[in-house]
Amino acid sequence: MAVILNQERVGASSMAEQALRNIGPIVLLGPPGAGKGTQSKRISEHYRIPQISTGDLLREHVKQGTPLGMEAQAIMARGELVPDNLVCDIVAWRLREPDAQRGFILDGFPRTQKQAAWLDAFLKYEFFDNGKWQSRLPIVIRIEVDYNKLLLRITGRRTCPTCGRIYNVHSRPPLVDEICDVDGTKLVMRDDDREEVIRERLDAYERQTKPVAEYYERLGRLATIDGDQPVDDVTARILKEIDGNAATASEGS
Ligand code: AMP
Repeated sequence: MAVILNQERVGASSMAEQALRNIGPIVLLGPPGAGKGTQSKRISEHYRIPQISTGDLLREHVKQGTPLGMEAQAIMARGELVPDNLVCDIVAWRLREPDAQRGFILDGFPRTQKQAAWLDAFLKYEFFDNGKWQSRLPIVIRIEVDYNKLLLRITGRRTCPTCGRIYNVHSRPPLVDEICDVDGTKLVMRDDDREEVIRERLDAYERQTKPVAEYYERLGRLATIDGDQPVDDVTARILKEIDGNAATASEGS
């Protein structure tokens, strides 16, 4: 598997060591279509820590018809951002789960400056407060891709509703048209991947999420990676960044 091969490329430690050490927290930033979902899944498999996608959590609430889901549904359909307090609540709830205690990857969060400030406070005063790790700042990675390439990527994106695997009809098609290679389920296009909604989502990124990257950049916590390379190369660069950061943290402790 590509992710395991990448361990050799980045000189990472053995699988057993990977399974024990604390990682991150990792924040992946980037516009819709930059590959955050695909890369998060790979990082998650590599370090065996959960991928926490606020988009996936919100879609699950919509599917289950919870009060939060009902409030978020129309906002998401327009491609706008769901209010900060709702998103922060679901992230807090998720980060308290046992599987997140050794580390986690945030995919699609924080997306506003308020969410970034909330995350810093949550990590400092709640997550690290019981001394289970030495307190750590997130490793923030931004994946960048050219605007027109993003449009092409998003309109071609198809997802398996059963296993969550992501395909692209242009660059990563399934073996059989519109069918998942893994479990044979019919692939779906997300409602908010239609072109008119995509433009709003890309605008929301420019207006609200770019300042988040700038906030982390000012704090010297941002690494930017060119997402317009083969998917394995992007993964290798990200893992190198995370391993470099982990090494620096342990030298400093
Ligand atoms: P994604 O799957 O990350 O592209 O998110 C899909 C949609 O969910 C977005 O267009 C927003 O409407 C909503 N969403 C996801 N994450 C957030 C967040 N951190 N803050 C506000 N809205 C979000």
